[in-house]
Amino acid sequence: MLTLEQLTDFCQKHEIPAFRAKQIAHAIYQEGVESFDDITTIPKPLKKLLSENLQISTVTPTAQEMSGDGSTLKILFKLPDDNTIEGVLMQFKDGRRTVCISSEVGCPLKCKFCASGTLTFKRSLTWEEMADQVIFFSRYLRRQKAEVNHVVYMGIGEPFRNYDNLMKSLKVLMDPEYIGLGARKITVSTAGMVEKIRQFADEPFQVNLALSLHAPTQELRQEIMPIALRYKLDDLMDAIRYYVDKTKRRISFEYVMLRGINDTEKCAKQLAKLVKGMLCHVNLIPYNATDIPGIEGSEKATIKRFQEILEEAGIPATTRVSLGQDISAACGQLANKAQKPFATKK
Ligand code: SF4
Repeated sequence: MLTLEQLTDFCQKHEIPAFRAKQIAHAIYQEGVESFDDITTIPKPLKKLLSENLQISTVTPTAQEMSGDGSTLKILFKLPDDNTIEGVLMQFKDGRRTVCISSEVGCPLKCKFCASGTLTFKRSLTWEEMADQVIFFSRYLRRQKAEVNHVVYMGIGEPFRNYDNLMKSLKVLMDPEYIGLGARKITVSTAGMVEKIRQFADEPFQVNLALSLHAPTQELRQEIMPIALRYKLDDLMDAIRYYVDKTKRRISFEYVMLRGINDTEKCAKQLAKLVKGMLCHVNLIPYNATDIPGIEGSEKATIKRFQEILEEAGIPATTRVSLGQDISAACGQLANKAQKPFATKK
């Protein structure tokens, strides 16, 4: 990702008129060119100079998987240091085209049900690496005369561990110079870093927040999410109440349905009690098969009953439509396994 400032500095350093920086940025972000050679408004020597010194993107697609129904595309991206991450595009029947991006190489939080947590943690991503995943899918959709209309930070990693880079990436995604996505079309998901939730609540924008709750009690939560040992449920809920009070925005509670672990009627009642009276929404997530032993998804009927109990208690709840299960691109399944070589379709 190259910002207008970086391009302006480059032009200044090489004694190139400043208007060229704007032309280059316009070609990259408004026209979606993939290489400097494709920019029609600049002279050849400048194309050469740019190609020799700058990279349009920090992420390189190297492998892909498309779901059988064509709704979901998973891409394995190589980073400049040869580490890899995955990003996913989901095209829903209602017109939503949602990009799910990763924020770290591997995830150190090791939630027991999550395939991404089994990857060795290497490092957090730069803001450019986060934004470039979205820009990649934006270019991909442009070829189909469509555009990205939602972005979720729900791929590999915990975005709040990487707060400054997260903020910078959000700013460029919202900036009309680049992607120009509305804040309300972006959701950041956290496993529950209390101090960062409070910090996020104080930010001057309207980006959505989702909390990966996954258990209604401290005991159960710390069993399946080691992060709960550090951040107690009471403190977490206090931080969430602060977020809702401060922003007047609804919080989404993500709750993955694990057979015999967190899907009992008792759990549903405990969850209803925990979030009662809060401006919130509970999103029940059918668990997608992974290679993790001992972890299975709940039966459909169990999920239905769980949702009914929440609704009877006055808690808005839905069950997530899960796309991309057949290519391990669904929630909790990202584990850098996309295999087919990436091929650009013009
Ligand atoms: S659920 Fe999220 S926070 Fe937990 S291990 Fe997976 S990627 Fe990390």
